[in-house]
Amino acid sequence: MIVMKFGGTSVGTAESIRRVVDRVRAARSRNPFVVVSAISGVTDMLLAAAREALGRKASVKGIVSEIEARHMAVAGKLGLGSSIISGEVAELEHVLFGISLVGELTLRTTDHVASFGERMSSRIVAAFARKSGLKAEAFNAYDLGMVTDKNFGSAEILPKTFEAIASSVAKLPSGVVPVVTGFIGRTEDGDITTLGRGGSDYTAAIYGAALKAEEIQIWTDVDGIMTADPRIVPEARTVSIVSFEEASELAYFGAKVLHPKTILPAMNGNIPVRVLNTFNPSGTGTLILKNSTEKGEITAITCKKGVYVININSARMLMAYGFLHHVFRLFDEFKVPVDMIATSEVNVSVTVEKRFDVSGLVEKLKEFAAVTVLADRASLCIVGEGIKSMPGVGGRISSVLGKSGINVEMTSQSHNDVNMGLVVSEKSVDGAVRALHGEFFASVKQPVKRQSAAISVRG
Ligand code: ASP
Ligand code: MG
Repeated sequence: MIVMKFGGTSVGTAESIRRVVDRVRAARSRNPFVVVSAISGVTDMLLAAAREALGRKASVKGIVSEIEARHMAVAGKLGLGSSIISGEVAELEHVLFGISLVGELTLRTTDHVASFGERMSSRIVAAFARKSGLKAEAFNAYDLGMVTDKNFGSAEILPKTFEAIASSVAKLPSGVVPVVTGFIGRTEDGDITTLGRGGSDYTAAIYGAALKAEEIQIWTDVDGIMTADPRIVPEARTVSIVSFEEASELAYFGAKVLHPKTILPAMNGNIPVRVLNTFNPSGTGTLILKNSTEKGEITAITCKKGVYVININSARMLMAYGFLHHVFRLFDEFKVPVDMIATSEVNVSVTVEKRFDVSGLVEKLKEFAAVTVLADRASLCIVGEGIKSMPGVGGRISSVLGKSGINVEMTSQSHNDVNMGLVVSEKSVDGAVRALHGEFFASVKQPVKRQSAAISVRG
């Protein structure tokens, strides 16, 4: 069995849904289990609808018919009637009426509203697949075992989910191609939850792990993981194989192809994940393996703009126990996640994304340390299994950046790490990425990595 997950743009138009169904049909001999996102833009529309219903600024009927029209613009062109989604449309209208009547919008209700995107897209895709001769059937993930905690907005699965999925999928009639909602689950009390924005990838990985799939395919609108962001480096190219470790570093540090959490269930189950382009089916995409056997190479360069550097300096740190504990306890208390860390005897520097408010945290830190916050910074990550084994990489990085006149303000690399992190000013980061890409990729001919494992897994 393979899990095939299709993102919002892949189900965004009638034409792309035709392609999706073609891809699924082509994979029929491998027992496809399909996971879909909402039609692109629909989750945002639904969240806006909930707020509008709360503010009572627009008529609920008007909002609902706009959302219905967005779906019928796609479904109609596929020759499907509105009855395909009428149940969901009616329920959405009820929920929005409830919000406007009570004048209250909780996270729990927000998740209920957000769930309709995937619930409607899965019905449309399944109906069209049936029309095209496949024995497809739409399912809500929670009817196939997806049980979560009550952390509405970014729920986490319960351990029993894996068992529950395996046993409910085993009961499906043979030959059925399930088309399952990404992004959503349900608590044990029966309340609908969401796994966080972009959570459909995570759904796919959870099903992949629970069903011991031979492969999890993430079908998106780019060719896979690239050596750098092609908007910054036009000659960037697709990487054919990366390790799980590299992929999660890349995802975390700004490569937008994969939801970072996707990596976990797949890694635990040692299931290969392949990122593929719905709009370019002849590409081989990027294969993510638990252990990439490729060594001695840099895989990709990624960057994240809009970060702060927080420098925490304390003479008291000298020979003291517990200073770091003190510092990081406060990051925990203020729920500010740390990306990169560098320490010396009396100094700790960390990077934090700008979207987190650090003012309260900084006040507290100032009670026992000198603190400075540098804004308009960017973190840059050079990722590759080769970082641990390739001598002289560090030297080449500093020399190429030095030659380009780029000042490196902080570096971080731990023992056995596949990731070297640097901080530079936000305005110099694009130039830094280009210079490093030129240094590490200019001389390499395509493909970036050998295709051996890719071919045997693809079958
Ligand atoms: N539809 C959800 C979102 O827009 C989940 C996903 O697309 O993965 O965030
Ligand atoms: Mg996505």
